Amino acid sequence: MWNKEVTRKSLFAVAVASFLSVADAALAWPRGTISALPKSSTRRVAWTVDDGASSAALGRYVSMLEKNPTVKITFFVLSGAPGWSKYATRLKALQDRGQIQLANHTATHRKMTTLSDARIKAELMKCENFCLAKYGMSTKPYYRPPYGEIDARVIRVAASIGFTKPMLWYGSFASGSGVKSSTVLKSASKWIANGRIVIDHANGYCTTNVFPQILQIFRSRKLKLVTLREAIDPQ
Ligand SMILES: [Zn+2]
Repeated sequence: MWNKEVTRKSLFAVAVASFLSVADAALAWPRGTISALPKSSTRRVAWTVDDGASSAALGRYVSMLEKNPTVKITFFVLSGAPGWSKYATRLKALQDRGQIQLANHTATHRKMTTLSDARIKAELMKCENFCLAKYGMSTKPYYRPPYGEIDARVIRVAASIGFTKPMLWYGSFASGSGVKSSTVLKSASKWIANGRIVIDHANGYCTTNVFPQILQIFRSRKLKLVTLREAIDPQ
């Protein structure tokens, strides 16, 4: 029974995903959320990486960034994941030279739409205070709701404590658990384009195993990698 339900649900998700056209994918997000970069004369793209559920995978992102100074990533920190402490020194060095931005992905990855107003604030502030303590920089005003689950109430409550930029995405690497690297590569190739915010996850090796090929996609399409802050709130 349970399996049947899951199967039906997954089929539904697949049906919805394939039904949405490229244009509709962005229109499906609630009003007030941000899923693309502002227009620019520079060809650019934002690679965003969530969670860090695998410390080892996060470590591979750190090493890749250290070896490739023109690669920039915005990490949506799940502060409850241990990698953000384990690699704090090296991540802080990358942050301090502007190669990465740390944004807020809450403390424990609950669906924000199911939480009380007080819990929404607590989830954001716990992650914020972690980043302030470890990295000396605020995550405000950028956050990404776990699972992309967001509504008008979450947007309003988050904004009341300074999180005024709910960041979603337009194109996913599909880098979930159990996903093959060939699938990630195919998704990356499909979605990496000028003006896009693409989503990836540091939860396993499916992306890290194809880093060279992914970097080649950015290069061959002549796209500059930018953090969300430098694209959205340039100094
Ligand atoms: Zn997440």
